[in-house]
Amino acid sequence: MARPDPDALLAAFRADLEAATTPAALEQVRVAHTGRKSPLKAALKGLREVPAEERPAVAQALNAASQTVEAALAEAKARVEAAAIAAQLDAEWQDLSAPGLATPRGARHPVHVIEQRCLDVLRRLGFTPESGPEVEGPFYNFDALNIPEHHPARDMQDTFWVDGGLLLRSHTTTVQARVLEAAGKRLAAGEDVLPIRVASLGRVYRNEAVDATHLAMFHQFEGIWIDRGLTFAHLKGTLAFVARALFGEGRRVRFKPKYYPYTEPSVGVDVACMHCDGAGCHACHGAGWVTILGAGMVHPKVFRTFGFDPGEVTGIAFGLGTTRMVAQNTGVTKIRSLYEPDQRVLTALQRGMA
Ligand SMILES: [Zn+2]
Repeated sequence: MARPDPDALLAAFRADLEAATTPAALEQVRVAHTGRKSPLKAALKGLREVPAEERPAVAQALNAASQTVEAALAEAKARVEAAAIAAQLDAEWQDLSAPGLATPRGARHPVHVIEQRCLDVLRRLGFTPESGPEVEGPFYNFDALNIPEHHPARDMQDTFWVDGGLLLRSHTTTVQARVLEAAGKRLAAGEDVLPIRVASLGRVYRNEAVDATHLAMFHQFEGIWIDRGLTFAHLKGTLAFVARALFGEGRRVRFKPKYYPYTEPSVGVDVACMHCDGAGCHACHGAGWVTILGAGMVHPKVFRTFGFDPGEVTGIAFGLGTTRMVAQNTGVTKIRSLYEPDQRVLTALQRGMA
């Protein structure tokens, strides 16, 4: 075996170390010059073949070379890693002073805003919200509400019929029918179910020719209050309270006779237009007044259908077109835009609501 030459080993190591500029290359240098198969390890192993008198000097020189290699590797490792971190920081640099991207804020849908207002008002009167299916049987949409087959009211609301004799509900009064049905069963079982104060709200469907002001789907809100001893005075008081709570304390309100099959007598409630206060403008189509509520005393036939004695209990029922209320509140006359997914329009309407 050749005589170990520490200077040659160091020279080869330094040449390799200089060329290594990444942590991975440095690791290769470390393995090549200090690993089990490195020339340095081989030289240390071969010491026993060196003549005894020279051995201490050679061993000392090899140990010194080994320490030099370890120290140089440690120093190079620190330098290369610092350079790698600096390069990463440079690549991932962020300008913290750059302006952010503006995220447009959405707004609650105007119909939802009005629905929540209606609910808030009715909750103050002790009403609780109830919901029901949008695909209904004709019993709940018509028969139970005193609209039998061949009744002209079935034509008043052209109805979307679906398979299996079902229909898309044409009013949220269907929910009242279901509430009365459930209460009638509990009444028959001997329970005291009064008073009943329920609000129902949601989508209703009419088979209308769709244009800017007529839609096949819109939103309604209804309330029913059943108790002993309710009179027309309760109805008027409740309606005036609801109308003023929704349209402002000083708002002028007027009642007019109306016809609805499931109430008798029936009334319509007008409020003075929010935009012209009765003078007439485009938002009220020149009328000065806007009909916002339909209402009445629950028809005795409706009570009898569900097992209530109309001589003992009376009830008031009322419904609002929430879509129409949004139109009146915002002044939008083309209500179709309420149901189109143009967020600029919806946001502008919501911000403009009184
Ligand atoms: Zn007006």
